[in-house]
Amino acid sequence: MLALQGAFHEHARMLRDLGADTVLVKLPRHLDGLEGLVIPGGESTTIGKLLREYELMEPIRAMAREGMPVFGTCAGMIVLAARIQGEDEPHLALMDVTVNRNSFGRQRESFETDLSIPELGDDPFRAVFIRAPHIESVGPGVRTLATYEDRIVAVREEKFLATSFHPELTADDRLHRYFLGIVAGER
Ligand code: GLN
Repeated sequence: MLALQGAFHEHARMLRDLGADTVLVKLPRHLDGLEGLVIPGGESTTIGKLLREYELMEPIRAMAREGMPVFGTCAGMIVLAARIQGEDEPHLALMDVTVNRNSFGRQRESFETDLSIPELGDDPFRAVFIRAPHIESVGPGVRTLATYEDRIVAVREEKFLATSFHPELTADDRLHRYFLGIVAGER
């Protein structure tokens, strides 16, 4: 669990409730033995800056390229994206997607809605959007898991998972279970 800035406590609680041994990653040594990484919502520019300052960027990128699953939510999704609209430099750049920051924010700061995520079953997923980004376009290896008003809001590319919304803020733990399934090599 990347714990530099943002909503990491809620994610960590959910992961622990699901039985996952959860470490708060603030320094490179906290990456030792890590089998999966969650990057929370917050402020992507700040998370990106701290990743560089604490020298976490390169080791995380290397571990991810060697197969470590990564799950980014909201700002975490922006940190994972290879391209950020209107910005020259991406952060981890692990997923072949172009994100648009604050895409819903100009219309509505935050809102909740029921999303259909077939990968998680028939029950709708209550999604909380807070100054949320969306995915503008995806590369050929990226699977869209959910859309909202024609915008892509959840994607998977191999072992990487990203959502525009905050699944740690509701009681529905299906996305965290899904991610732990990827970590366990079951999905
Ligand atoms: N729009 C924010 C950013 O650019 C993300 C907002 C959030 O994570 N709730 O980082």
